[in-house]
Amino acid sequence: MKKIINIFCNDNDKSLKAFIKIKEILTKKDFMISEKFNKDAVLNICIGGDGSFIRGVHGTNFTKIPFVGVNTGTLGFYQEISFENIEKFINDYIEENYTMEKIRLLECEMQTNDMNLSKKCLNEFVIRSNSSEIIHLDIFIDDNHLETFAGDGIIISTPSGSTAYNMSAGGSIMYPTVRGFQLTAVAPIFSKVYRSLSNSIIIPNTSSLKIIPLEKSYKKIAFTADGIDHKYENISYFKFKKAYKKIYKLVFNKDWYWINMKDKFL
Ligand code: NAP
Ligand code: MN
Repeated sequence: MKKIINIFCNDNDKSLKAFIKIKEILTKKDFMISEKFNKDAVLNICIGGDGSFIRGVHGTNFTKIPFVGVNTGTLGFYQEISFENIEKFINDYIEENYTMEKIRLLECEMQTNDMNLSKKCLNEFVIRSNSSEIIHLDIFIDDNHLETFAGDGIIISTPSGSTAYNMSAGGSIMYPTVRGFQLTAVAPIFSKVYRSLSNSIIIPNTSSLKIIPLEKSYKKIAFTADGIDHKYENISYFKFKKAYKKIYKLVFNKDWYWINMKDKFL
C-alpha cells in the first residue's frame, strides 16, 4: 500500500509552486498526497510561514504524526526546509536522514461560572486587556501567590514559541526541547501601588501557573491561543501547565535552529 503524506499549504504563489513541486516528486517516489488531514499518513508537510505551521498543527488537533515545515513565508521558525532544498529534503526523508524532535505544548484550563474548558497551544497563550485600560491579575505558581500584576497583559509561552510574541515582549529565547514554559509580562506597571517582577520567569514543566483575574468586569479580559482570540465570560481562573500531548517535528540539520536565529534576527 502507498504511504500517505498530508500537505497543508497557504495560498501564496510561492507556496503553490512548492506544493506542485513536492507533490510531483513524492508521487514519482510512490507516495500518495492528501490535502486534508488523513490520520493514516506518515508525515505532515506545512508549506508557508510559521502561521501555516501553527494552523497545520491545530488543524490536525495536535496529531502525533510528525511535521516538517517548508518555508515560503517571511520568517519561518518552524520551517526548516527552503524552496531550494525540496529535493534534498525528500531524499533525506526517504533515507531516514533526520532526527525527531519532541515539541512540548502547553495546556490552559479555564473555569467559568458554569463550565470547565481546556485549550492547547504551540506558541503561547496571552491574557490581556481588550481595551486601553490596564488589567489586574493575581499570579500563583503551584498555589504560591507570587505577585499581583497590573499592566497590558501576560504571555505564557512554550519553548518553541519563545521566539515569537514572547521575544517581542522581552522574554528569553528557550531552545525548543527545553522542559519548561515562560511567563512574560507585557508593559507591567511598577509603582508604589503595583509591583511585579520585571524579568520573565521560566517555570519548570512539573509546576503549574494559576491566574485569577481581579477585574470586576470580565469584559476587560481577552484570551488568545496561538494568535487566535477566544471569548469566554466570567472566568474565575486560568490554570496553565504542560500538555499531556506532544507533537513531533523532523530535524534535518541539527544546527539549523542557531543558523536560522542568526539569519533571521541578527
Ligand atoms: P502573524 O501576525 O503573521 O505573526 C507574526 C509574526 O510572528 C510572523 O512574522 C510569524 O512568522 C512570526 N512567528 C510565529 N511563530 C513564531 C515562532 N515560533 N518563532 C518566531 N516567529 C514566529 O500571525 P501568525 O503567522 O498566525 O503567527 C501567530 C503568532 O504571532 C502568535 O502565536 C504570536 O506569537 C505572534 N504575535 C506576535 C506579536 C508581536 O511580536 N508583537 C503580536 C501578536 C502575535 P511567519 O511570517 O513565518 O508567519
Ligand atoms: Mn504569519
